[in-house]
Amino acid sequence: MSLTGPPASAAAARGSNNSGEVERLAALIDRSKSIHHLLQIHAALLRRGLDPHPILNFKLQRSYSSVGHLHHSVTLFNRTPTPNVFLWTSIIHAHSHSDQALSFYARMLAQPVEPNAFTFSSVLHGCNLQAARAIHCHVIKFAVASAPYVSTGLVGAYARGGDVFSAEKVFDEMSERSLVSVTAMLTCYAKHGRLREARLLFEGMEADSRDVVCWNVMIDGYAQNGMPNECLLLFRKMLAEKVRPDEITLLAVLSSCGQLGALESGRWIHSYVGNHKNGVEVRVGTALVDMYCKCGSLDDARKVFDNIVDRDVVAWNSMIMGYAIHGYSEEALRLFDEMCGMGVKPSDVTFVAVLTACGHSGLVSKGWEIFNLMKNGYGMEPKIEHFGCMVNLLGRAGRLEEGYDLVRGMKTDPDSVLWGTLLWACRLHKNVSLGEEIAEFILSHNLASSGTYVLLSNIYAASGNWVGAAKVRSLMKGSGVEKEPGCSIIEVNNRIHEFIAGDLRHPKSQDIYLMLEEMNCRLKANGYTPKTDLVLHDIGEEQKELSLEVHSEKLALAFGLISTRPGTTIKIVKNLRVCLDCHSVMKMMSKITGRKIITRDRNRFHHFENGSCSCGDYW
Ligand code: ZN
Ligand code: ZN
Repeated sequence: MSLTGPPASAAAARGSNNSGEVERLAALIDRSKSIHHLLQIHAALLRRGLDPHPILNFKLQRSYSSVGHLHHSVTLFNRTPTPNVFLWTSIIHAHSHSDQALSFYARMLAQPVEPNAFTFSSVLHGCNLQAARAIHCHVIKFAVASAPYVSTGLVGAYARGGDVFSAEKVFDEMSERSLVSVTAMLTCYAKHGRLREARLLFEGMEADSRDVVCWNVMIDGYAQNGMPNECLLLFRKMLAEKVRPDEITLLAVLSSCGQLGALESGRWIHSYVGNHKNGVEVRVGTALVDMYCKCGSLDDARKVFDNIVDRDVVAWNSMIMGYAIHGYSEEALRLFDEMCGMGVKPSDVTFVAVLTACGHSGLVSKGWEIFNLMKNGYGMEPKIEHFGCMVNLLGRAGRLEEGYDLVRGMKTDPDSVLWGTLLWACRLHKNVSLGEEIAEFILSHNLASSGTYVLLSNIYAASGNWVGAAKVRSLMKGSGVEKEPGCSIIEVNNRIHEFIAGDLRHPKSQDIYLMLEEMNCRLKANGYTPKTDLVLHDIGEEQKELSLEVHSEKLALAFGLISTRPGTTIKIVKNLRVCLDCHSVMKMMSKITGRKIITRDRNRFHHFENGSCSCGDYW
């Protein structure tokens, strides 16, 4: 009998054929992949008087959800007079990614229908922390706490809600742990930056029970939590244990190479991904572009970029930002025009990238043009980052009043970074009166942060206002503001070497300091005098009590000079803005040694060559 055939009589449906008929329809529902087909079966079911039927309704409802037609699923459910626990669980499961799951769950309890372990695992799927705690009580009350997937659901729900302690407690009490539950706990630790605990749990697993998902949780956890070196080390271990990395692994590892500026490692991973003739897939391609840009190799980045199939806005953004941070503003702007010309709609990030490009080359009118284009051309409201770029651009160009007006005219409250940028510009252009005006405003509105405190005290000191300077310093001590320590990284022979100011931890410390002395002699012979006015660029950076000559980037440079062949380009990554003194040392050393030195600081790249820098001393 075909589905579109004449309706069977109710008598026939009730007859001996009935169970065969139900079985046949059930199988049809299971095989159905389209909403059209499901609706046909549903109609047939109605014609045969088989609605409501506990099994068929259950299957139909589940299939409606799985083809993405939740509303049919809900209608069917609401028409069922007394849904059993399976039907309730199925409708909850179908809504497990929204608040609806909880309201169905509450309706179920009110019936009352007693939930089973599957119900809990479904309702826990998307619930918030408060709900998770309530449901935890129900789990105990209905005595299903021992079911592994219920505990796993609880671990996941607590993890999402940020309650690591409760997640840990549930996990510790589990009588049997599955790979899924261990992965849930690993994810919980990694997501909340508890990498040490995560690693312990990870190392405690049987080596052959760790699947790629577990490895990814750890590797990505390191990458996301600013531990890129650990990420790369674990990745090597993963390959050694013959676990095949997937896309998630590669994205995490490439991001780590970028964070470290580890070009050699990045290239090695690129060769692992392979150079595909038919182009590279957009997500991995974008990660490669980003990595090459951050590792200072724009040519490689561009090669990958040109080879990406179906470039999306994220890919364009990476390449534009790459040009911007290297100071290739013209290229960045050209690429932006090309992108718009191809009908790709720019995003927030695109505008940050393009405005950054303008900022690094002092292109004020172009900056205004882009800023206005964002609002008037694309109907996008500029965010605080965009204001930050503009204030930076105006501030560097000495148009302080214009910058100040822009900040005061903002609809949202400016943050301390924005104020810091403005203050920094006042300091740069020695505009003490505006600096003081802004300082008063910041202090009276409690808006100061560690960076602004240092700038404030500098501004007061510069204007001879020692009372003001002392006040800021005591405020700074009282607030427990800590300066982020400066740190520089250099990669030599695939290994990452990290230096902080005055560092003595490196095994080659002695040679490094000897080299530093030699550097100083040669610098002085070339007319170098230390730039003691370093406060100018020193936004809470390296501790001032340490003398300039042991700043971390100088140690990294000295190490680079003793451990690479003459002529090799030296690449250094610094976590803060490079100071005025280090900047001039790098310039002179590039001339003295005849080497290229590339430094990435918090803001941008500096390519030092033959005594000058690509930033044109404008950073
Ligand atoms: Zn320095
Ligand atoms: Zn520079």
